[in-house]
Amino acid sequence: MDGHNLTNQPRIDAAEILDGIREWVEIETPSTDGAAVDGLSHLIERQFADLDAAVTRVPGRDGFGDHLLFEAPWGDPGDKGILVVCHMDTVWQHGTLDRRPVKREGDKVFGPGIYDMKGGAYLAYYAYRHLIRQGRRTRLPVRFLFVSDEEVGSGTSRDLIEAEAARAKYALVMEPGRNQGSLVNCVVTARKAVGRFVVTAHGVSSHAGVNHDHGRNAMRELARQILVLEDLTDYARGITVNVGVVSAGNPGFANVVPDKATAEVDFRCPDAASAAEIAAKVHALTPIGPDIRLEITGGINRPAYERDAGVAMLYGQAATIARDLGFELPEVSTGGGSDGNFTAAKGVPTLDGLGVCGAGAHAAHEHLLYSSLEPRTELLLRLMESLA
Ligand SMILES: [Zn+2]
Repeated sequence: MDGHNLTNQPRIDAAEILDGIREWVEIETPSTDGAAVDGLSHLIERQFADLDAAVTRVPGRDGFGDHLLFEAPWGDPGDKGILVVCHMDTVWQHGTLDRRPVKREGDKVFGPGIYDMKGGAYLAYYAYRHLIRQGRRTRLPVRFLFVSDEEVGSGTSRDLIEAEAARAKYALVMEPGRNQGSLVNCVVTARKAVGRFVVTAHGVSSHAGVNHDHGRNAMRELARQILVLEDLTDYARGITVNVGVVSAGNPGFANVVPDKATAEVDFRCPDAASAAEIAAKVHALTPIGPDIRLEITGGINRPAYERDAGVAMLYGQAATIARDLGFELPEVSTGGGSDGNFTAAKGVPTLDGLGVCGAGAHAAHEHLLYSSLEPRTELLLRLMESLA
């Protein structure tokens, strides 16, 4: 702790916050490069350690970076507390920063990963720093999780997120604030279940000219299965099934009847029941053509985050704080998954989209709104302090 800051009554300062965010953004952290993500995680570890937080570094695996857990020095480790969920990785490969350095234009500050979600992750750190510097505490224990692989599905961090959810009374997720239709700067109170399938049709190859009739064209079979899959989409029920990638055949060899064709499928469902229903239907697909074998793998990888009574209560509390601070806090549900899906599915009241406002996640125009830095930090701080 800095003594002089205690006596000077530190303020939440947008310029100071932006300086901190910039430092995090300027360390490139594509999910697929664990060593690069560790470059940022070591900085974050030092920053939290300076604030008396207990640090646990969970080694990464499968080429992904380490995950970090920080615990404030009050409360019993066994007591249920507030879990603040952040990710350090971005979808941006090395070199993006050279092409698109951090740049401010009016209220917009552009930069790779600045909105999703280094801005929000930094707000979590800054809110905690502000709390500590003022000698204040939250009523509940507070723990911060920084994972390294959210953008690729949190395969190596899911166990950790769920273990921390087990000792959480509330989960606050620092993904960015959302805009939807006429609603701007919203928090997220529901997310669809997200799943993946790989559907492979196996047929029989043959010479297209000599004995076409001996062949069993896997691509033909897959084409028919794609229509079955896509027809599972039901907008009225909020269900989408999207065949996004297809591979088959040997490029340049149209004279071969292909014996293998593969489709990669993404599906989204609003609740656990509809997700289970779609997964069962996909796994029950049967061959349409003769002598075809279907191989189907995959399933739900992020369970649904449903807006239950606990979520509604948590949202209500946040909206009241926002009103006291002088702004509205609309809520939206979204088809995009986050680590909030894991905490919510464990029955922990979860509020997501608490990070910075802006737009352009995963897009070249990604930016945060400078004007959101102070209010969003204040909102998080007061929410953490009010939860009991
Ligand atoms: Zn994100």
